[in-house]
Amino acid sequence: MTPPRKPARGETPRPLIELQDIRKSYGGREGEGGAEGGSPAVTVLHGISLQLHAGEFVAIVGASGSGKSTLMHILGCLDRASAGRYLFDGRDVSTFDGDALAWLRREAFGFVFQGYHLVPSESVLENTEIPALYAGMPEAERHTRAVALLERLGMGTRLHHRPHQLSGGQQQRVAIARALMNGGRIILADEPTGALDSKSGAEVMALLHELADAGHTVILITHDRSVAAQARRIIEIRDGRIVEDSGGMEQPAVAVDIEMPDLQASRGGASMAADMREATRTAWRVMWSNRFRTGLTLLGIVIGVASVIVMLAVGGGSQKKVMAQFETFGTRTMFVSAQVASTRNPGAPLTLADAEALRMLPNVEGVAPYIEDKVVVRRGNIDHLTEGGGATIDFSPVLGWGVAEGVMFDADDELRVAKVAVIGQTVRKLLFADGQSPVGQDILVDKVPFQIVGVLAAKGANDGEDQDDRVVVPLSAATTRIYGHPHPTWIAVQVRDIERAQETAEAIEAQLARQQAGREVRIWNRVEALRVQTETARAMTLMLGLIAIVSLIVGGIGVMNVMLMTVRERTREIGIRMATGARQRDILRQFMTEAVLVTSVGGTVGVVAGLGIVVGLMLAGVPVLFSLAASVGAFGCAVLTGLIFGFMPARNAARLDPVVALAGE
Ligand code: ADP
Ligand code: MG
Repeated sequence: MTPPRKPARGETPRPLIELQDIRKSYGGREGEGGAEGGSPAVTVLHGISLQLHAGEFVAIVGASGSGKSTLMHILGCLDRASAGRYLFDGRDVSTFDGDALAWLRREAFGFVFQGYHLVPSESVLENTEIPALYAGMPEAERHTRAVALLERLGMGTRLHHRPHQLSGGQQQRVAIARALMNGGRIILADEPTGALDSKSGAEVMALLHELADAGHTVILITHDRSVAAQARRIIEIRDGRIVEDSGGMEQPAVAVDIEMPDLQASRGGASMAADMREATRTAWRVMWSNRFRTGLTLLGIVIGVASVIVMLAVGGGSQKKVMAQFETFGTRTMFVSAQVASTRNPGAPLTLADAEALRMLPNVEGVAPYIEDKVVVRRGNIDHLTEGGGATIDFSPVLGWGVAEGVMFDADDELRVAKVAVIGQTVRKLLFADGQSPVGQDILVDKVPFQIVGVLAAKGANDGEDQDDRVVVPLSAATTRIYGHPHPTWIAVQVRDIERAQETAEAIEAQLARQQAGREVRIWNRVEALRVQTETARAMTLMLGLIAIVSLIVGGIGVMNVMLMTVRERTREIGIRMATGARQRDILRQFMTEAVLVTSVGGTVGVVAGLGIVVGLMLAGVPVLFSLAASVGAFGCAVLTGLIFGFMPARNAARLDPVVALAGE
């Protein structure tokens, strides 16, 4: 409670506050608050002119309804006059913007109300700290100062109580501590003893005296003449007019010690990080105190986020499984086989000429004819019945099947009818259990000696058949040395464009019919199946997306609903915060933080629940594909929902008029 500096000798201080013909009406055209259509304007203040100097202790006294509170709201910049001029330290307040007014409320004024106006959810200490919070005072300093003030006001043992745990007199002391938090150069007290018993009232009056003696400007509003009589100057107001003024200036005046801010550059305000921390802390507490309601609302978001994660994991898992099946022989390969339908029209089911004809079809990238039949392979004294095969050099590119060791036979081998072979992993395992390298070794294929040049890469089983149980030799060698005929068992056809697979299959059928009539052609069109599968997956993803959007919108509406309720329930708190210096953006940030926190919690619970279900399904043997992107995305959408749906209620809160908010329930 540092006394303001004394003016230099001979200096005439200009009034700290000067009102010139201030008028205030409610309703009507000018109306603020309670203006119902057609109701006539009620004029409450009829031209108040008044000068107040720094260091004065003034009582404004008048009967109930005479306009005292209205005047105080105007003096304290909680409300604007309908007409007239208000000069604060010589500057016209009507030129101040919202931030500058908030600055004045924060740095110049300290309010003490009849109804105390403490924030019910915050402790004594936190209530006291609020003005410093909005002034950006560092936490440690804020804390020390609040504790010191509360101790001096006899509230040192009640720091962590909530307002409802205190008596009226104690609450009023907390309000006084709060008013002094940022200096409280001008204390505006509206009926500060009105709700108190006479003993507590006397104590509060003694405190105000002390403050006045210490140099604070004290403006006391009361309907009680005996209370007013304690002030050094008494102004009597009746029906919105000053009827008597005992006159000030008998006591030594002191100069204003308030340095006005540069109104262009917004000064003050806490650092972003500190602000966010405070807002988060408050938001968390509010959420916790309404946890049942908040929890119910969050269910929408939780379910939305969890279901997106689960469905994407399951969808991805089943698709992955299908893809894995297709990938055995490439995703763009179809297999053509044929049978001669009637014995009267003998001929080969498929020929090498067929293969060459298919190669010419549109959308065909590669063709690999293959002769397949059982053979016995032998090495030393080990015999093994396996799938034998003759393949062209197109085998590897068309089927996507190369060697893991050694080399694949080449065009030259084909031309020379070379007795070379590649073996599958299973054959290798059986014939070379001794650990020798098969490459370069000789084996017998149906009693014909072949030299192994390579070992095929492992393919595993497909449709229950071990694909690695095979030996493959050049088609020419198979034709002449093993099977004695040149007719492919099947022809693998690789298409270029999956979308046109069905059309290509039809073209293949037509072409084979042209080549030779009377054949029953079978096309194992896995490509088309894959296309259908892909389309189904796409449709499913789209549906999942829609479900996600719908559930997030539902969740968002829930959040908005909760936020609107919160804002309504806490209108008075918003008013208190504004009266203690919060700017619109502080209030906006507070409520936006609450919305985002609420949805973040919902999103987190949703992610955890979703992952839990995914793990459960995995343990139950359902193929799942966990996607980090899906989890992050779902969480991000939830938070975004909070931002979007929280904005409207938060803006409503920030736009509240301080007086209206203070009067709110
Ligand atoms: P006091 O504090 O001296 O008791 P007030 O300033 O609260 O008086 O009120 C003065 C007059 O203004 C009263 O007649 C009251 O009904 C009216 N009044 C106050 N606030 C409003 C409002 N928001 N809308 C309409 N009339 C109001
Ligand atoms: Mg009043």
